[in-house]
Amino acid sequence: MLIKNILVIENAFSQPKKADILIENGIIKKVGNIEGVGIDLSGKVAFPAFYNTHTHAAMSLMRGVSDDDPLDVWLFEKVLPLEDSLNEEMVYYGTMVSMMEMARNGIAGFIDMYFFLDSVAEAVKDFGMRALITRGLVDENGEDNGRLKENLEFIERWHDFDGRISGGLGPHSPYLCSKGYLQKISAAAKEYNVPVHMHLYESAWERDKYDAKEILEFFKDVKLIIAHAVQFKENELEALSRENFFVSHNPSSNLKLGNGIAPVAEMLKKGVKVTVGTDGAASNNTLDILHEMRLAALIQKAKNPTNMKVEEVLNMTTKVAAEAFGLNAGEIKDGMLADIVIFDTSDISCLPVENIKSHIVHSRCKVFATMVAGRWIYYNGMFPTINESEILYKFKKLSQKLLKKEISEIHRSSI
Ligand SMILES: [Zn+2]
Repeated sequence: MLIKNILVIENAFSQPKKADILIENGIIKKVGNIEGVGIDLSGKVAFPAFYNTHTHAAMSLMRGVSDDDPLDVWLFEKVLPLEDSLNEEMVYYGTMVSMMEMARNGIAGFIDMYFFLDSVAEAVKDFGMRALITRGLVDENGEDNGRLKENLEFIERWHDFDGRISGGLGPHSPYLCSKGYLQKISAAAKEYNVPVHMHLYESAWERDKYDAKEILEFFKDVKLIIAHAVQFKENELEALSRENFFVSHNPSSNLKLGNGIAPVAEMLKKGVKVTVGTDGAASNNTLDILHEMRLAALIQKAKNPTNMKVEEVLNMTTKVAAEAFGLNAGEIKDGMLADIVIFDTSDISCLPVENIKSHIVHSRCKVFATMVAGRWIYYNGMFPTINESEILYKFKKLSQKLLKKEISEIHRSSI
């Protein structure tokens, strides 16, 4: 594929320049003046696509179920009872609809934590996105009903599928995993050489009961993606600033569930690798990384307007997020994965185009298209890889069934 006459922003820190982009086998082959006939995207801007580093994609089925509750009520009283009734088909369509929303917002890949992992992976395979998929792992006194085994078997089945799907391990949190179980998961992650994805210090009550430093020590030798990290005090941030640790900052979810504001500006000063996640649609309620970037910037600017510069925020969702994911991506240059978002500069939110990077973070610039591995997964309002109306029809039927609790079959053991 050859894209002609587009304004290319190579990475978060560079300025737009007019160029053509040649893509071969899912990789950016060349950026510059290229002869040949291609698709003319003059008037558009190409930027490295975004990665959403924390979500539970299938939760789009539960969007809006609990908008005014704290985390414990949200989780234990509203979400878990519904999750008892989920089945494979629901997880497939829930994941699919979330990917449509993510693609529409310039996201090329996501790090997921859920269950019925084969359904998640099948949806990702069909849609054409990237995903690092982890199973939510919980135990009671060391007994996990085979969840870790299931997670590892999934990794063996799907690891590096089509260069787009990979697996990791997803211990839910210190409050749903015993210490012994966390250590077992860490050992398995080392043996399989896969990342770990875990919620940590999301809420104040969690902080009162668990020592994050001790838990982080369990994972010192593996890649760890830490969702939330809201409750860390400034003098504890050293523990997060390791080469192999990544924080996934989820500002909407943290604010909405009353968990507070993660000390992101302070983390960045300490060299912590911070990325951005949307969390699931049952807590956010959108999977809009552009909105998340703006919010992440604004809540730190409330303390000091020089915090969270545009380039810094864009780097968090592209280059740093790609590193968390383990992808050679986050820049539009020769040899990188062809994951690209195209912005429409004819839209008023993207004008004046001279300040386009500012608009991406602060003005909700309109996404025209999203490309993953050289293939359009979203293009000018359409989703070329799927049958949109059929998917939405199935999604509506299944979510209606779920929310009315018409499911007789109970899947408690699967969760
Ligand atoms: Zn989460």
